Amino acid sequence: MRLEGIETVRRILCVFPRYTSSFGTFEYAYPLTDGVQAFMPPQGLLLIAAYLPANWPVRFIDENIRPATAEDFQWAEAVFVSGMHIQRQQMNDICRRAHRFDLAVAIGGPSVSACPDYYPSFDYLHVGELGDATNDLIARLARDPSRPGQQVVLRTADRIAMSDFPIPAYELAETRKYLLGSIQYSSGCPYQCEFCDIPGLYGRNPRLKTPRQIIAELDKLRECGMTDTVYFVDDNFIGNRKAAMDLLPHLVEWQKKTGYITRLACEATLNIAKRPEILELMREAMFVTVFCGIETPDPDALKAMHKDHNMMVPIMEGIHTINRYGMEVVSGIIMGLDTDKPETGDALLAFVDQSRIPLLTINLLQALPKTPLWDRLEREGRLIDDDSRDSNVDFLLPYDQVVSSWRKCMEAAYQPEKLFARYQYQCDFTYANRLKVPVSPEMKSWANIRRGLIMLRNIFWKVGVLGDYRKVFWKFALRQLRRGDIEGLIGSAMIAHHLIMFARAASGGQQNASNYSIRLREAAIPAE
Ligand code: SF4
Repeated sequence: MRLEGIETVRRILCVFPRYTSSFGTFEYAYPLTDGVQAFMPPQGLLLIAAYLPANWPVRFIDENIRPATAEDFQWAEAVFVSGMHIQRQQMNDICRRAHRFDLAVAIGGPSVSACPDYYPSFDYLHVGELGDATNDLIARLARDPSRPGQQVVLRTADRIAMSDFPIPAYELAETRKYLLGSIQYSSGCPYQCEFCDIPGLYGRNPRLKTPRQIIAELDKLRECGMTDTVYFVDDNFIGNRKAAMDLLPHLVEWQKKTGYITRLACEATLNIAKRPEILELMREAMFVTVFCGIETPDPDALKAMHKDHNMMVPIMEGIHTINRYGMEVVSGIIMGLDTDKPETGDALLAFVDQSRIPLLTINLLQALPKTPLWDRLEREGRLIDDDSRDSNVDFLLPYDQVVSSWRKCMEAAYQPEKLFARYQYQCDFTYANRLKVPVSPEMKSWANIRRGLIMLRNIFWKVGVLGDYRKVFWKFALRQLRRGDIEGLIGSAMIAHHLIMFARAASGGQQNASNYSIRLREAAIPAE
């Protein structure tokens, strides 16, 4: 659904800020691909772009692909920006650049919705989700696009139902330049983990699109050239289990119709392992990865952070159950918890070995505004505002000890031998459980084969010939080649390369210990 009834025409420039190097954006893998330059198309800005009046020309720039130029700013009558806390400096930088052209700049999205104070220079703050504030912003710009005399804060009181959301304007994004496609079915999560800002921002009662909308979005992503892997960015795919069960048969049908060329991935709580009926349908719909916020293998720590639902099934059993349905588990891990002890790092490494999970995002605890953790630490006087640190939390263990333990874990977990052994396990015991599908014309298409060949060439040259861990790589690669598992080889080698390179930089102190830390981020602001 688009906003209708506005006659005036305004040219809107939507700019998505750059990310700095981060564990979760996989940029060390990009040179091994056939031209990937960014992680995922941003849902929020593309949604707003689709919601604007149909007669308003929109230009979308993702600064992870290229910076907005003077010509872009000269073309525009107003600028829209959106992003997360980690992009705060970059968003403020876009605002500064737009103001040089005397353009009104509006900011929306999760960061400003949680912390309007972070953005004093913007002309319009759009706080909350798509709704009456969005309509108000559009009406104001239609009346007068010039900069208002002082900052205007617009807060959504009346949200638009997700079932009325338009399809994000994927056609504006250069989809082939993204590692993953993105799609959103639901918003919000029924749980209340202490460190998480999702329930505070989006509510505990998940809101939903309809299966028809999702199928239309998948069709559009395909039309726009995104065929590889599409990631459901929902905070918790099974936040509403009935809704997941309603959607999955439609995804299965869509995969049958389109030749199973698209792989699906999502985020879900580990108690998904208790739902074989959901797991079976996910297998049939070709879900290949589930990100689970395991956070810690320590039951006392899970209790303390109110994540007891992770213990509804013993953690190892849960992981192996998901693997049995062909899905690799990716795990979030947090270090620096109040329950951590000097031996926590060793326990974590034992968990990595035992779980055989290849990809774990190991972060230091960071307190985000609008979370119970923030409120508690504020009461206890344990929030530290110091950009030179990797976390704003005053840990109970000494800070240097926690950071050094994090570095050691990164170094040990991503030793090439250990990582490829975990990937070998996944190839043998997880990927082997995936649905066997006939080779469809889409898979045999020249475009698909060409992409695979380019990636293989890059991997063989940059890792197999030039890489310093080439012996470990070839041991893994030859085994996969003998089996004809080209997909497993390409996927594992690409991600493994990122993990190894990132972990080396991290253990040498050149990467942040938290996805949310702003240490080192200044350098990432793009030059004009
Ligand atoms: S289950 Fe995940 S999304 Fe839900 S509150 Fe906990 S961390 Fe946040």
